[in-house]
Amino acid sequence: MLNNRRVGSFITSSTARLAATYLAIIVLMSISFSIIFYNSTTRPLNRPARISNEARPSFGQRAIIDSQVQQAIEERFAEARQELSIRLIWINLAILILGAGLSYILARITLRPIEEAMEAQSQFISDASHELRTPLSVLQSTIEVALRREKLPANDARNLLEHNLTETKKMKHLSNTLLELLKDDRQLLPLTAVSVQDVTSDALQSIINLAQSKDITINDEVSPTPVITNRHALVQLLGILLTNAVQYSDTGSTITIRSDSIANHLRLSVVDTGIGIRAVDLPHIFQRFYRADKSRTSGDNPGYGLGLAIADKLSRKIDAKIEVKSRPGEGSTFTIVIPKAK
Ligand code: ADP
Repeated sequence: MLNNRRVGSFITSSTARLAATYLAIIVLMSISFSIIFYNSTTRPLNRPARISNEARPSFGQRAIIDSQVQQAIEERFAEARQELSIRLIWINLAILILGAGLSYILARITLRPIEEAMEAQSQFISDASHELRTPLSVLQSTIEVALRREKLPANDARNLLEHNLTETKKMKHLSNTLLELLKDDRQLLPLTAVSVQDVTSDALQSIINLAQSKDITINDEVSPTPVITNRHALVQLLGILLTNAVQYSDTGSTITIRSDSIANHLRLSVVDTGIGIRAVDLPHIFQRFYRADKSRTSGDNPGYGLGLAIADKLSRKIDAKIEVKSRPGEGSTFTIVIPKAK
């Protein structure tokens, strides 16, 4: 909240400064243009008025008529110059007023992406500190309670240390994950031809214990199609989807992992029959720290809502795409679309 307010006041002052700069440029250009226009328009009027020889009357009348005509012309010229100056002043005033509005709109448009990036950054920092604070508070309180006791039996001390180790591991995992998310994701990782079947068996290896602990069966229906990818990243990405499938499925259920070839791409799908995701949550599940319906997804699930954010980032780094279909109570299908090797 405080961060958002700070971002807000920074943006407000930056908008004002940028709008003032734009307005100064507009006004400067308008005044310069007006001066040039005024000078070029009035230059012919500044030359002395002459009467052509044919139009000249007899010599006697010339002096009188010349001076009268001269005077009338000079008056007209002065009037024209004055009228032009007044018009230009009005035009410049109108440009000043319109320019102020336009400058503000332009400044808002220019600063919007910066504002969004700053808000996302400050949200990320506040979410990350919040997530780190929870295990730290747990650690602090268990240590304080233990220290208050006069004697701490060896068994209790061991339990305490084991508990603290678990919390420390959680924090280490979280900080590693955060660092992973902060890495630059604009560059593709080195991509080579890899059999998708090999990737799948590596990923299955990493979650087999978790699946067994919930008595979940995993059907591997993946064909040995070669794809262009980064093996390590794809194993990690598939591991995240499989971990989620196990975590959000009931004990004793079945998860299927299968592949389908479509033109130049291979679709690698993880299908579960778990709790599913509500339509309102679907657009947000790839956001950092987003956890759908906490009452359903928390419990003994230790996630921070970062798995899919990393999966999304990894998919971009290997030129792949993740699609998701899900229905609450029926299950979810997460599909990775990967370019096939030629
Ligand atoms: P985490 O699992 O740590 O909460 P993720 O980023 O991996 O974070 O997932 C974000 C949210 O998406 C989860 O909290 C959960 O609500 C939902 N989700 C992800 N995968 C599944 C799945 N296979 N079935 C049901 N819900 C899922």
